[in-house]
Amino acid sequence: MPRKIDPIAIASAIKNGNRLALSRAITLAESTKLEHLELAQEIIHQFEPHQHSKRIAITGIPGVGKSTFIEALGLYLTQLGHKVAILAIDPSSHLSKGSILGDKTRMEELAKNDHAYIRPSATNGNLGGITSRTYEAILLCEAAGYDHILIETVGVGQSETLVNQISDLFIFLQLPGSGDDLQGIKRGIMEMADIIFVNKVDAFQEKLIKDAKVDLARSLQFLPPKKSNWKRKTILGSGLKEKGIIELWETVEKYFAQIQENNYYSENRTLQQSLQAETYILEMIERQTKEKLKCNPINKTSSNAYLMAKEWLKENQN
Ligand code: GDP
Repeated sequence: MPRKIDPIAIASAIKNGNRLALSRAITLAESTKLEHLELAQEIIHQFEPHQHSKRIAITGIPGVGKSTFIEALGLYLTQLGHKVAILAIDPSSHLSKGSILGDKTRMEELAKNDHAYIRPSATNGNLGGITSRTYEAILLCEAAGYDHILIETVGVGQSETLVNQISDLFIFLQLPGSGDDLQGIKRGIMEMADIIFVNKVDAFQEKLIKDAKVDLARSLQFLPPKKSNWKRKTILGSGLKEKGIIELWETVEKYFAQIQENNYYSENRTLQQSLQAETYILEMIERQTKEKLKCNPINKTSSNAYLMAKEWLKENQN
């Protein structure tokens, strides 16, 4: 007989700072089993939504220095007395069984810090599921008192759009000399970015770095303004040498002051909640439809797949 999970006991352990309970709840939220998901929701339900947290998305191509940067930023924030949760989303993990984010020892110092909680999150091949599962992980971390949530994704496409739907601020890491041709995926990510952190400046010549800043400023002009009215900022620095981290954080604080002031912070969160509800609806419909398909398999009466689908839907409408 499997042990019964008591959501109220888990919630109270989370409230008391028990990390194991927090990890357990996030695992429940990530499970593909419906009863686990509902348990996770019951746990979340025990908490009031957090009104003052900072949810920050951090992205950039593999090798740009994300984990080094996040470790530097995370350590800085814990020194300021904040509690920091790092949720690393890895869209590659289902493809290779290995993962872009998880294959090396990452953030060793931060992992030892009592005020930091690091959680890699595989997506099980369900990219669409990123938003809901990470959304729940965010709520659970906030319940555990982590009011600074850093959500890391690999800057390769779709996962950024989704993570943008669950964060308040978007930081894009890039290398000097790669900012002047805004096309395709890069343009899409740059449009979402609030702050561009040009990383590894310690390893590049000064002239190249200056040119990079000018080029970036030029290309940013052509992007549509942000709904928050925030003007995108570029910061030069190095995660490895802890350069630019203080300037970055001052900019983050300014950003949050501005979006609290003009109400974008709460408006955006309300909008995100609706999008999240939409995700839940689609998930529920998909689940129900799969169940129905199991009970009433498709009648192979036609040679046309589309007509077969239409016929099945007509027969199985509620
Ligand atoms: P990620 O794949 O984006 O998470 O990148 P990592 O943080 O793992 O860094 C990739 C490589 O770049 C590692 O060898 C780091 O030591 C190095 N690196 C990271 N940040 C910096 C930096 O600011 N300057 C220099 N010179 N190297 C860095």
